[in-house]
Amino acid sequence: AEFYKDLPKVELHAHLNGSVSVQTMEKLIRRKPHLNIEHSMTAIGKGQRRTLDECFEVFKVIHKLVDTEEDILMVATDVIKEFAADNVKYLELRSTPREENHTAGLTKKSYIETVIEAIQQCKNEGVDIDVRFLVAIDRRNGAEVAMETVKLAEEFMLSSGGLVVGIDLSGDPTVGDGRCLLPALQRARNSGLKLSLHMSEVPSQLEESELLLNLPPDRIGHGTFLHPEMGGSQSLVDRAVKGRIPLEICLTSNVKGQTVPSYSQHHLRYWYQLGHPCVICTDDKGVFCTDLSQEYQLAASTFGLRPDAVWTLSERAVDCIFAGDEVKQQLRQKWTELKPGLL
Ligand code: 5GP
Repeated sequence: AEFYKDLPKVELHAHLNGSVSVQTMEKLIRRKPHLNIEHSMTAIGKGQRRTLDECFEVFKVIHKLVDTEEDILMVATDVIKEFAADNVKYLELRSTPREENHTAGLTKKSYIETVIEAIQQCKNEGVDIDVRFLVAIDRRNGAEVAMETVKLAEEFMLSSGGLVVGIDLSGDPTVGDGRCLLPALQRARNSGLKLSLHMSEVPSQLEESELLLNLPPDRIGHGTFLHPEMGGSQSLVDRAVKGRIPLEICLTSNVKGQTVPSYSQHHLRYWYQLGHPCVICTDDKGVFCTDLSQEYQLAASTFGLRPDAVWTLSERAVDCIFAGDEVKQQLRQKWTELKPGLL
């Protein structure tokens, strides 16, 4: 277990409000006792499974607990420090900007500003982690909100000194139509924002995945049902392979959310065997009670990866980050320096 903890890591798929730890959740619950929320409503423990629908209910509960600038600042700084303590050296956090009418002041803009403030605070405190932000589009909210979100992200890309690097498309995959979001995503791409899109998380998204792959995205979230053995298609696989579009792999999330029946049947096997770029990620470390070390350990034990293969997995993740070449070089340097102590 020490090896996985000591391994320097890159986290590229982490939803802010899904990443809230037990400790932070307790602080939030204490702040808002009138909501009568118990911790069992905000996390899915060991051995527990939920349907994907139930998972999305959990996010609604968490959103009630995190609805002021003060909450967001605390949650974001805590999450960043927790990833840093797990030896994550580079983190791309993603979150859906929300406006809360009942709590004065929270707008989508101030939401993003607050996350950026948290990133800067951690940096000023010397926390050893490079953090970037992806502004998330919740697919449920439709084309207009998506476009508004992209415009906000464009503004922040220019004003945040490189902290806002891209767009995430997420939210309940059984709701909404990706087709109507294409203009917003296209615009984001044209303005230089990187795209990480949840794709084929459930069956029956084949057409949508085809359209999204045409953009094309810079990374794919999950991609569980893309390949033919899962009811996907060879042409979808070919497209991803040809573009070498990395897959963000979230083992515990997929098993606990029941889109994948067991660890050994996870689609990581298929893509890893193809030699396709796969990045091990947590998705929602709070909700699914995991951390990135544990996800690497799970990948290794499930698929029989030796330490040097695990090292290579974490090293190759650097190639898939959205920050520029200079940051990649710095990270590669860091990995080179740390390697002799670990392998
Ligand atoms: P937030 O954006 O509020 O920081 O994080 C929670 C949100 O992330 C959820 O409401 C949902 O839109 C998105 N999310 C978290 N986990 C998943 C997941 O496994 N699949 C999808 N499609 N969306 C997710």
